[in-house]
Amino acid sequence: MKFIFFGPPGCGKGTYASRIAPQLGIVHIATGDMFRAEVAAGTKLGKLAEKCMKAGNLVPDDVTIKMFKKRVKKKDAQKGFILDGFPRTLAQAKELDNMAKIDLVINIELSEGIILEKALARRICEKCGNIYNIADINRNGIKMPPLLPKKEGICDKCGGFLVQRKDDNEETIRDRLNIYRRQSEPLIEFYRKKKLVRDIKVVGPPEVMVPKIMEILKKR
Ligand code: AMP
Repeated sequence: MKFIFFGPPGCGKGTYASRIAPQLGIVHIATGDMFRAEVAAGTKLGKLAEKCMKAGNLVPDDVTIKMFKKRVKKKDAQKGFILDGFPRTLAQAKELDNMAKIDLVINIELSEGIILEKALARRICEKCGNIYNIADINRNGIKMPPLLPKKEGICDKCGGFLVQRKDDNEETIRDRLNIYRRQSEPLIEFYRKKKLVRDIKVVGPPEVMVPKIMEILKKR
């Protein structure tokens, strides 16, 4: 079972993947999380990634592909995986084609207005990376109540402090959305030609979306 969760930054794919992968007994591979770990560890790759992320740019393909290849070869990824944030360019998709046979691409759709509102309200545990959201959205048939921790500012899972990701500011978010439209959205056509895409509109919180996505994946 090898799946790609595709969609604009902030559409919720990280949350869905982190909940669905354990249910399927496969790993969740998020290149954004891997880069953030490199930044936190202060590695050479982390320093390069930090510059790109701060500017809202993509990390260059060569280093991204190298890091991804290393991860996907690990034992825990052999049974299957959900990719979140990879591939993001045609070059990455073509490389992935040589590495694995993808079963399905879930294309997650959400308007840019809601993405912006949600992204600015996103909080992440600085220790374990668990995601929360303080926005309360209810319009145009989309109901997304906040995803709050039990104790304000504290992670339910590990007790770590909740912080705003450095790249979750309006200017960077708009840059990321523009880059998505320019560089990543064309990938959908690449996968549509292979008849691998299932579109799904976000209409509710993860409790609503996760079962919907699970149903699609199980049929596969
Ligand atoms: P994400 O957590 O997926 O939103 O990723 C955060 C940032 O990490 C992105 O804005 C990029 O700068 C970088 N990044 C993550 N995945 C990739 C990728 N596949 N290719 C290039 N840059 C990436």
